[in-house]
Amino acid sequence: MRLGVDFDNTIVRYDALFHRAAVARGFVPASVPARKEAVRDRMRADGREPDWTELQGWAYGPGMAEAEPFPGALECLARCAKEGVPVWIISHRTRRPYAGPPHDLHAAARDWLRRRAVPVPEDRIIFEETKAGKLKRIAEAGCTHFIDDLPELLADPAFPAGVERLWLDAEGSSKAESPFTRLKSWAEIEKWIFQRARS
Ligand SMILES: [Mg+2]
Repeated sequence: MRLGVDFDNTIVRYDALFHRAAVARGFVPASVPARKEAVRDRMRADGREPDWTELQGWAYGPGMAEAEPFPGALECLARCAKEGVPVWIISHRTRRPYAGPPHDLHAAARDWLRRRAVPVPEDRIIFEETKAGKLKRIAEAGCTHFIDDLPELLADPAFPAGVERLWLDAEGSSKAESPFTRLKSWAEIEKWIFQRARS
């Protein structure tokens, strides 16, 4: 097994961060549900699209130091390191925010991983600027499995053939059938991985 893992909204959860920051800046009332999408939808409905864009630049840049991992994510990656399952973190985000100060968003992501002591070697941490670049890197790394929160990414026609696709559906968003293995938490991911890794 060679495991590829997405970063944003797969390892890192932004819900509390966006909610806290948007409330603190007076963009949304505290009564808005503490989920990133709920904050975004409320800000858009209130005509705050430019504020939302700038808030994202902050949250994926300097603000991300305060972002939390999904429960169990770092523990699972640590177990992979300990039990010899090689892991690549392969993700895409722009290098600079679309608006506001020109933070280095790739450096912020690497800092987060370093500060959390995520046991993945530097050369297996890959940030691309485009989805096409990300898909190419998944193929180049020779991943046998890839975990992502976005079914659209997994369903992309350019997704490398032969890589088993795991969908982290932490929201339990849809009851519809999925062509991918759907796992609802990192506890489920860990169980799934180590059942396979042993067989
Ligand atoms: Mg993601």
